[in-house]
Parts: sequence; structure tokens; C-alpha cells
Amino acid sequence: MNHCCKIGRIIDEFDLTHGAFDEDINKYLLARYLGQGEYEETGVRPLKDWFNLKLLKTVYSRNGRYAIETQIESDYEILDSGDEIKKDAVIQDLKDDGIDTEKLLNSFATTSTMYRHLTNCLEGKKEKKKNEESDWEKNKIQYIQKSMRENTKDALRSLENKDRLQFATDAEVFTPVILGCPECSTQVRFEKALQQGYICEDHMMRPNSIEEETESNSEHTKRNEKITG
Ligand SMILES: [Zn+2]
Ligand SMILES: [Zn+2]
Repeated sequence: MNHCCKIGRIIDEFDLTHGAFDEDINKYLLARYLGQGEYEETGVRPLKDWFNLKLLKTVYSRNGRYAIETQIESDYEILDSGDEIKKDAVIQDLKDDGIDTEKLLNSFATTSTMYRHLTNCLEGKKEKKKNEESDWEKNKIQYIQKSMRENTKDALRSLENKDRLQFATDAEVFTPVILGCPECSTQVRFEKALQQGYICEDHMMRPNSIEEETESNSEHTKRNEKITG
């Protein structure tokens, strides 16, 4: 069987899973690395330590070596350290419990293997910052729409009170931001334009942009600014 890298091989070889329901360990690592779902964004080093501890716990339980969590953690710290005397003592102790220590130590992940596994094998790209950057434009539009709705409602309330517009405060207020092509009658909502990456297929699209589906958002933004500004 082909493995993505050393970590993939170790997961397979030791049948490592996560949690009580044997969940996919790769999904878990990636979610923590990227800070998805319930997880806080985590660095490579803590994930490497987590992975190695997981491996150690698995090996302990399969060899019937009883140890509480803190004992396993302290064993790992020693095995991971450069303290050869302490390390030898732990290794001897593990050997006494029938553990193949050479295989175990060779199976530990380093920070760089973990980094490569997360970014290359699992394609975990931290895009959080990029998304935040490209979202401010959208947030700005939404802010304008909200404030426009609120101001409109103020005006409607006044008009209703003056009896110039009956039931004005019952009205629903729509504030679409619509972008129009200067060459033809094409009009699209801002959200749709942003989603599709262009405003008018006939007049406001570079001829080669169909192949450029991965084109960055910032380029679209520059274009939009030119159009509206
Ligand atoms: Zn891998
Ligand atoms: Zn057009």
C-alpha cells in the first residue's frame, strides 16, 4: 500500500484513530491545524506532540503497559528530550513491557514531517488571513445596506406620523446593491457579481478569464472599484 508520507504510514501501521468513535485522525489533525469547527487554530509543534503521544498511548495499551495520562506525558517528554540517561531508563522500562522501542522511536513524527503532512498531503492551507482581507469589501457593502435600511425606516416613520405615507413603517425595505454594465443593459446584484467574478459576460470579462477560475479575489476587487468609483 502506498502512503502519502511517513505519518500516513504510521497512522496505517498502528491503526491510529481519534476519539471514542474511531474517527479519521487526518480529519482531526487538519481541523485543529486550520481551526475549523469547534477547534482553535493550532500550530504544527503541538500537533506533532499530540500525534506522538497518541502513538505512545496506543503502543502502551496494546502491550498492556498501564500508565496514567501524566505518566505517559512525562515518558514522552523524556523520550523527546536530549537527556540520554533518563531516556535510556525509560527505554529499558518499555523494553521490559515487551515494547519494540526502536520501532517506536523511529515512528515518532518530527515537526517538519508533520508540517509537510499537513500542508502537502492534506493540503491544509491556512487561508484565514486572506479570507479576512478579501471579506472587508463585502462587509463594507453590508454595513452600507444596513445603515440605509435604518435611515429609510426613520424617514418612513416620520412620513407615517405626518400622514404622508400610510402604514409606511409596515413596509419591508430592500436595499440591493446593483452593478450595471456601461455598455449594455446587464445588471447584477453585488453578491452575484462577486460570486461569479464578473459583472457583464459580454463586455466586462477578460477573454481568457474562463480558464482563470482560480484568479484571486483581489483582482476582481480592483476591477469592481474601477467600475463603481
Ligand atoms: Zn502524509
Ligand atoms: Zn454588457
